[in-house]
Amino acid sequence: MQEWFGRLPGHIGIGNVRYTTSGKCDDTSLLQGTQPVTGKADGIELAVSFNGNIVNTAQLRKEMEQQFPDFMYTCDSDLVCHKLLLELKIGKDLTSAVSACIESLDGAFSVTGITGNGDFFAFKDQHGIKPLCAGHSPDGKTWAFSSETVSLDINGLIRDFELEPGELVTVSESGFKRTQIIKNPRKAFCAFEYAYFARPDSRFDGKYVYEIREEFGRNIVREYPEIVKDADIILSVPETGDDPAMGIHEASGLRWERASRRHRYVTERAFILLNKERYNTIDHKVNILGSKVNGKRVIMTEDSIVRGDTTKIIIKKVRAAGAKKVYMFVTFPRIIGPCFYGIDMATYGQLIGSRHSAEEIAKIIGADAVCYQSIDGLVHATGQTRDQLCLACITGEYPTPLAQKMADEMKQKFLNGYEEKGRIYELDEAST
Ligand code: SF4
Repeated sequence: MQEWFGRLPGHIGIGNVRYTTSGKCDDTSLLQGTQPVTGKADGIELAVSFNGNIVNTAQLRKEMEQQFPDFMYTCDSDLVCHKLLLELKIGKDLTSAVSACIESLDGAFSVTGITGNGDFFAFKDQHGIKPLCAGHSPDGKTWAFSSETVSLDINGLIRDFELEPGELVTVSESGFKRTQIIKNPRKAFCAFEYAYFARPDSRFDGKYVYEIREEFGRNIVREYPEIVKDADIILSVPETGDDPAMGIHEASGLRWERASRRHRYVTERAFILLNKERYNTIDHKVNILGSKVNGKRVIMTEDSIVRGDTTKIIIKKVRAAGAKKVYMFVTFPRIIGPCFYGIDMATYGQLIGSRHSAEEIAKIIGADAVCYQSIDGLVHATGQTRDQLCLACITGEYPTPLAQKMADEMKQKFLNGYEEKGRIYELDEAST
């Protein structure tokens, strides 16, 4: 890998491991959407790499099709690239072009980019929904951006700072130049990063994610003392349940049994797979050690319940192994609404929590009880305040206006029996 890497020409590179939350998910579309996305117009060249999701897709798509005759829409990354290109094309400097881009996009976007002139830059949306940090090498010759600190760590780089919402950072040989483009932004960092998405060995605001997840576990013990009294052991499935399990063990004194084993060559993360793949993967991936759970009252930890199907499979396996009771301890509160900002849960219909209470969910997935961490507990453990986080999928309060409007309208329709036919922000009538 390093040998291949060293043979690339040039001295700046950007990329992104794409997680599809817009556009199609077939092989051709995934290949076309490989980042960086590039654009060219009137002698200006631009490459952009993007993490997040754009909400006003339909409106921007129309605009870009009018402005660029050859514009091909594969996914929302094309829109970010061409919107920025458009602003540069009409003569704006990079700062003004990024400013106009941030103002006109609704959604979450952490962007890195390179211009044909060799400008290397990064910026975040005005709410800073997705993470993006900056760092440098100890010899001061390499400057880098990354979604998570873990990739700085493993490349021997020193973390310098997390980009602020609405901030543009440019890079020269002497280092970073920071410009706050949007004044008084309302921070709304994704709370789901703490519970599920981020790697546990990454840091946000100086705190390791795994430490926060351990505190989630201690919180749930404080919030459900009667259930804790009625349990014999803790069991964590899947891996994101391990850190809260540690916290539950510390706060309750219950034994944390390593009674599940994961197939080490089945590496997919169940959450990001398609429905059928997810079912097969989880079924083949997790094995339960019968002698550890037979006859026991089990607390099982989970980071979240989205559709409920994977949790149901695991509970079935634990019961088949002889567990007397199964209590689910879930660190992310009940998900009641879709995400518009880069997590692929984009309809009400796919969310078991949008139409069922915790008690009903317990019945459906075969648990004796489902115990969600409270929103206050989650917020407190992150070290942030409630108004610094995006909690939209668990409160229904979205930080951007168009997402709020679309979510409210679709919720009404959904409650009246309407069947959603795709991601809300990609429907024809959306975002115009
Ligand atoms: S809606 Fe939920 S998953 Fe999406 S950005 Fe907000 S907190 Fe994160």
